[in-house]
Amino acid sequence: MSVAALVDPQSLPTPAGHFGRYGGVFVPETLMTALSDVGAAYAAARQDPAFRDELTHHLKEFAGRPTELYFAERLTRHCGGAKIYLKREDLLHTGAHKINNALGQALLARRMGKRRIIAETGAGQHGVATAAVCAKFGLECVVYMGAVDMERQALNVFRMRLMGAEVRGVEAGQKTLKDAVNEAMRDWVTNVRGTHYILGSALGAHPYPMMVRDFHRVIGAETRRQILEREGRLPDEMIACVGGGSNAIGFFFDFLSDTQVRLIGIEAGGHGIRRGEHAARFEGGRLGVLQGSKTYILQNPDGQIELTHSVSAGLDYAAIGPEHAYYREQGRIEYAYACDDEVLETFQLVSRFEGILPALESTHALVHGLKRARELKPDQIVVINLSGRGDKDVNQVARLLNVKL
Ligand SMILES: *Cc1c(COP(=O)(O)O)cnc(C)c1O
Repeated sequence: MSVAALVDPQSLPTPAGHFGRYGGVFVPETLMTALSDVGAAYAAARQDPAFRDELTHHLKEFAGRPTELYFAERLTRHCGGAKIYLKREDLLHTGAHKINNALGQALLARRMGKRRIIAETGAGQHGVATAAVCAKFGLECVVYMGAVDMERQALNVFRMRLMGAEVRGVEAGQKTLKDAVNEAMRDWVTNVRGTHYILGSALGAHPYPMMVRDFHRVIGAETRRQILEREGRLPDEMIACVGGGSNAIGFFFDFLSDTQVRLIGIEAGGHGIRRGEHAARFEGGRLGVLQGSKTYILQNPDGQIELTHSVSAGLDYAAIGPEHAYYREQGRIEYAYACDDEVLETFQLVSRFEGILPALESTHALVHGLKRARELKPDQIVVINLSGRGDKDVNQVARLLNVKL
């Protein structure tokens, strides 16, 4: 596609939060004021050099930025094609990219004079990142988590509690992430005056998809600088996993206008593309509205939200961020999926060849990235975003491999 055909990515979303026909603000009237207050506070903060300096300072000192761009030498040799680089978000404090957004929003809350933070969490990674920044800044923290997820992720529940967060189990619905988001929105409506809601992905009503994207843009900005330093040119392909879509959009954003760089997002194919067995919204979903935003959603013919499945809890959600839907429609970002069995195999391969245990979420990107590296030539470059570390996943991997610990 030609560069001229692409709208300036910086101009999106529109002031009403639209990315083409996606996005927007589909919430109860009682939340409109809260959202527009956050939007106004964020618009002011993003223009304010003092806010940016403060965020940069904490990203460095607390989170550990910049993260390395790592040349995966043995994987490259093993695949026998393009050079493989990994952007090491797994090295960040609390183990994943999520701390970029949690820090940004906690600073924004403080600026707004809000001393109480609420958040939702599925696997617990966003809850842990939020609990950590709240402890650091002395903010009260309540994390909503489905009762089923609390049981599956007991260690993360304990981590959050150690850092002073109150974890509230949600017994409604399927007792997983979607239900936790509903409870968090209910809390926000009730306590809006002193409370800020730190949403964990590039999802939900405006301004969240934009704001969360902006807080993760540092991933792509660093990658750009680092690959130019190392290779003197931009990569041929960049690949990231897509749950709600925050690590991917942050990684891709500064490359959207460089149309020679192929951008590929990887969804969770679970057991395969059959109803209820995966979380690949672009494969099995269609346009709808869920939790504030118009986007691709896994739903049954009546519009009820479909069950989802993935080996990685962080990708296991029925909706995809609206900005992804837009760039897919524009043909600028391509999407594919990886299935559980391939993920399990690649998890072991990368661990053995590089001494890095990747998060199962990130391993979806690795599955596709290694495939592409094999197909490309040795003078080409693939950069894969390693969104998080796999230490949290070793019990599950052991179980899937029938290893008794
Ligand atoms: C939460 C999570 C994801 C998925 O969320 P996105 O918003 O799509 O980035 C991916 N990788 C890791 C390690 C996570 O913790």
